[in-house]
Amino acid sequence: MSYYSPSIEKLIECFERLPSIGHKSAVRLAFHILSQSDEDTKDFINSILSAKKNLKYCSICYNISDTDPCNICSNKNRDSKTICVVENVRDIVAMEKTHEYKGVYHVLHGSISPMNGIGPDEIKIKELLDRIRQGNISEIILATNPRVEGEATAMYIAKLIKPLGIKVTRIAHGIPIGGDLEYTDEVTLIKAMEGRREI
Ligand SMILES: [Zn+2]
Repeated sequence: MSYYSPSIEKLIECFERLPSIGHKSAVRLAFHILSQSDEDTKDFINSILSAKKNLKYCSICYNISDTDPCNICSNKNRDSKTICVVENVRDIVAMEKTHEYKGVYHVLHGSISPMNGIGPDEIKIKELLDRIRQGNISEIILATNPRVEGEATAMYIAKLIKPLGIKVTRIAHGIPIGGDLEYTDEVTLIKAMEGRREI
């Protein structure tokens, strides 16, 4: 049985549904919300609603953006012939922070993971192939995370793209095995990009 009133219980439940939030954190967050001013609460709620309402997928790279195409795809100074394939939008942010990469991206929105029932059709691989078939691509850089799923995804995509006669590279393993691009420091990420090899 719960010691909290139903309204607080409901709020705790909502926080518990978020990734990486356990029961204790959920309770802490719920009580934090209750202690803030009405104005802060409104600001918080409106940020969530407006993000949900205004953000959309870029129809070219599947980045999440306020505009379609996103600001990277529509930037004429970027090299649209080089596509860096990443698992999620947060990986783009990690790459952009290096200020070294001038190409464009393709976001898969996940990685192949048979254990979790995620096959190639569940992520944006078909969309990547369509994009390549439209032509004018010189290199595909596979920057999926260096863990089992990321490696399997990179190998799968490389196999599909090679017959199309396009250069396919894989980022080097300066990034620790089992690591995440989004938590990798900029220098390591730059080194990984520089040391990419053809596969
Ligand atoms: Zn885009």
